[in-house]
Amino acid sequence: MSIREASADTPIARAAEAAVVARSGGDIWPRPSACRIITIANQKGGVGKTTTAVNLAASLAMHGGRVLVIDLDPQGNASTALDVDHHSGVPSVYNVLVEGQPLSAVVRPVTGFQHLYCAPAAIDLAGAEIELVPMVARESRLARALASYDAASLDYILIDCPPSLGLLTVNALVAAPEVLIPIQCEYYALEGLEQLLRTVELVRSHLNPPLSVTTILLTMYDARTRLASQVADEVREHFGAVVLGAVVPRSVRVSEAPSYGQSVMTYDPGSTGALAYLEAAKELARRNVQQPGS
Ligand code: ADP
Ligand code: MG
Repeated sequence: MSIREASADTPIARAAEAAVVARSGGDIWPRPSACRIITIANQKGGVGKTTTAVNLAASLAMHGGRVLVIDLDPQGNASTALDVDHHSGVPSVYNVLVEGQPLSAVVRPVTGFQHLYCAPAAIDLAGAEIELVPMVARESRLARALASYDAASLDYILIDCPPSLGLLTVNALVAAPEVLIPIQCEYYALEGLEQLLRTVELVRSHLNPPLSVTTILLTMYDARTRLASQVADEVREHFGAVVLGAVVPRSVRVSEAPSYGQSVMTYDPGSTGALAYLEAAKELARRNVQQPGS
């Protein structure tokens, strides 16, 4: 099913839309005037990149947004959480980056949502990091694929990066004007951030002038520890307004959801984790920084 078909004005589409509106409590958020492409990056593993990509995408899609998640991590965790087949051999982001196939050939609809899609990552993507090295314009393969994709039918593209600053992450940074950095509220959280910001700056100055860190999300906040609030304060002091007001708490429900092939937004919508991601997504939608001409 293509995105066009899914969004066609048919009785089924209208019924599905009504169901989505009901599930969102009838609350439809403002849509950006043009598709916002947001890269979710942090070279540290386990800081909540994938969880953030999946749950922000689900939240936005539940409130009228048309959203594509691009899974750029060979481990395919975002594909798993969205229950999109990504076993070896399935058309995936690998075929797009390495073989130059169109993105539309690998994008799949996510079950249970009317306008949520996923470009899955299979394990073969691990080889892409090396296979891309000798290629022409190796840093811009994803940007090119997105340029020839019909992004007008989407409101958001969220790119979930692997835990490294290799060619896959660089491709994501070249493909998007916005970077969202999840920061885990733990000791060492800020370590490595400087290197990430340096990479963003290098990509901005050489390959993608509009690139900037537009959003920081504090994740895995444990209210029982003073350390968490110290890290949060430090991040806010340092980064100011780009830090979202919403903070995602450490929550078992958040970590359970992927094993059911679900976002926490559908697995347990009333849980503290789901409510925090809902709030974060609402802020993201309202801070529509990518206005035409800006
Ligand atoms: P990354 O993509 O940066 O490697 P993940 O999103 O995969 O990080 O998160 C790492 C692990 O922590 C996963 O097992 C995930 O389920 C869990 N996790 C993420 N966010 C939370 C949270 N708010 N509360 C509890 N567990 C979380
Ligand atoms: Mg991940």
